[in-house]
Amino acid sequence: MAEIVLHDLVKTYPGTKVRATDDISLRVADGEFLVLVGPSGCGKTTLLRLIAGLESPDAGTVHIGGRDVTDLPARQRNLSMVFQSYAIFPHLRVRQNIGFGLAMRLMPKPEIDRRVAEAAELLDLTDVLDRHPAQLSGGQRQRVAVARAIVVDAGVLLMDEPLSNLDALLRMQFRTELKRLVGKLGTTIVYVTHDQAEALSLGDRVAVMRQGRIVQLGPPLQVYDAPADEFVGGFLGAPPMNFLPARLERSAGRARLHLADRMVPLPHLGAYNGASVTVGIRAENLEVHNVDAPDRLPARVEVVEPTGAAILLTVDVAGRSVKVQTPTTTTASVGQVVFLSLDPDRIRLYDPATSVAIP
Ligand code: ATP
Repeated sequence: MAEIVLHDLVKTYPGTKVRATDDISLRVADGEFLVLVGPSGCGKTTLLRLIAGLESPDAGTVHIGGRDVTDLPARQRNLSMVFQSYAIFPHLRVRQNIGFGLAMRLMPKPEIDRRVAEAAELLDLTDVLDRHPAQLSGGQRQRVAVARAIVVDAGVLLMDEPLSNLDALLRMQFRTELKRLVGKLGTTIVYVTHDQAEALSLGDRVAVMRQGRIVQLGPPLQVYDAPADEFVGGFLGAPPMNFLPARLERSAGRARLHLADRMVPLPHLGAYNGASVTVGIRAENLEVHNVDAPDRLPARVEVVEPTGAAILLTVDVAGRSVKVQTPTTTTASVGQVVFLSLDPDRIRLYDPATSVAIP
């Protein structure tokens, strides 16, 4: 069992005043893949290093597999790590690089060979086992680092931006490989990234961090679909969620949004009749029409960007810039006025004063 339980973890680096982690409590289930995501400096790496035992907390505890490891050094925590720099040894062949941790643990040679062969097979490195790192592609080198980490068969695998040195195509290929691999391993994984796509596609759950705190934790698509506040909506997803000021109204017994001088129907009103709100809506939940209607928002097309699978429009709605994702069949040109409908089930409301979601 390799459940990770963090309790009230506080870390302030010497000579600084900011809490790099600010009272973080978190439970990662045995075998779970948790992704930590957030902007630069929000404390992702610090949290990972606290779990690893590479930093010690000012307050709080770390339990791994039911054992309090807060005061134990990294090597006694039964975990392995892959870091951004993926430091593999240039003078060692791939085979020795992968087996390094096992040799350090004084494992018998036949057992090392067996495990290295198995990890190489999983990561498609069998053909390059006798090469030196300089003779590998970037993607292969990254896979060597991952192989070296998984081969020790620790209960916990910590990964800090392990794909950061790869180009976009390799990243995508590797993401798929990693996902397939993780299904076979059953290891508890904590994975740090600031890449949207990785955050959404890899984890069982994603924890969005800001200024040393976890601001939302949940299954990736749930967090994407219902961001807890405007920060999360703006951070997770490309393009970010659109936000527009509006007023909630009841007319003829129906809930409506008074938005850009139009009345947009809402499924329900809650207790907020007459309140000013911020409407959050994703680019793919807006639809473009050429014909006006009372519940559609007039918008002027400013930029047209084909992305291959779709077209991304930047439009102006009552002086605000809004992103709309439309099918490639849409014909819209710069300067044209179009009319947007909003998927009522996908409209999220936020309190303009606090930026927090209104339930
Ligand atoms: P990035 O995505 O840029 O790697 P991060 O989310 O991993 O960022 P951390 O590296 O954990 O963030 O940093 C959290 C905070 O702690 C930041 O304010 C950072 O400046 C500070 N910090 C990190 N390491 C140190 C250190 N060794 N000494 C002093 N301050 C540090």
